[in-house]
Amino acid sequence: MEQVIGKLYVVATPIGNLADISQRALDVLRGVDLIAAEDTRHSARLLEAYMITTPLKAYHDHNEEYQSGVLLKKLLAGENVALISDAGTPLINDPGYRLLSAVHDAGVQVIPIPGANAAIALLSVSGLAVNSFTFEGFPPVKSQQRKDYYAKWLKSPHAHVFYESSHRIVASLNDALTVLGGERMVTMGRELTKTFETIKRCSLAQLVDFVAADNNQQKGEFVMVVSRAESDLSESDVEIRQMLEKVLPIVSVKQASQVVAALTGQKKNKIYQLALEMQQD
Ligand code: SAM
Repeated sequence: MEQVIGKLYVVATPIGNLADISQRALDVLRGVDLIAAEDTRHSARLLEAYMITTPLKAYHDHNEEYQSGVLLKKLLAGENVALISDAGTPLINDPGYRLLSAVHDAGVQVIPIPGANAAIALLSVSGLAVNSFTFEGFPPVKSQQRKDYYAKWLKSPHAHVFYESSHRIVASLNDALTVLGGERMVTMGRELTKTFETIKRCSLAQLVDFVAADNNQQKGEFVMVVSRAESDLSESDVEIRQMLEKVLPIVSVKQASQVVAALTGQKKNKIYQLALEMQQD
């Protein structure tokens, strides 16, 4: 008889508001044999709120390697396991990589149960062009390294979303201001989905003043989106840029502008300017 092996469910949990959990997530958390959680005491509160009595097991940065082996054995022995983190989607700046890597290698079925994520929640309300974006978790803690980190987005055609801690939000925004300049548009998401949620879209200079002027705006959990370098670029401009990227290596700036203008129906002058800027990058 074929050995039945268990399934690993990777389950998103709320980032603040406990109601932000799907019916499917609740059904899975109730139905599995075991829930692997980053902080079992923290997750116990969520489970209590929904009267879920499934046993919890700690799985965090410090025991990831060992626990991955333990959990894999259980899965191979036929137990179903759910992985959750303290908030939001596991593995997005949260533990789980070792476990997922091991279970994939072992041929165990993995099933995502999607839901809350702070970065995606803010992107969706940022009011910035976010069709393409980069994400690198938290910026470095030291100021010089943080400035180098921000410098990567000085000319980036992608929006950049990142997390920041309340201990560093003021210093970090000041470093961003130094490197990216006061005009760059940003959206700050503070305490998303919670009672004192703030969503503020403005220039970096305005945001630095806004946060500095109000101690309450320096507390809680933060996620930020910095707009891409050309904050006035429309969707069609992105398309133009993509076309230019393809033709500029082959023909002159002038010819590239003519071709792209003909293909898009946009003004030649504007495309020419963009092509010149791209050549300087
Ligand atoms: N896995 C999580 C997710 O899906 O969003 C992120 C985990 S990361 C360790 C935790 C960081 O996410 C926090 O320090 C904060 O920067 C950001 N974050 C989490 N919840 C948030 C919220 N409600 N509002 C704003 N930022 C939040």
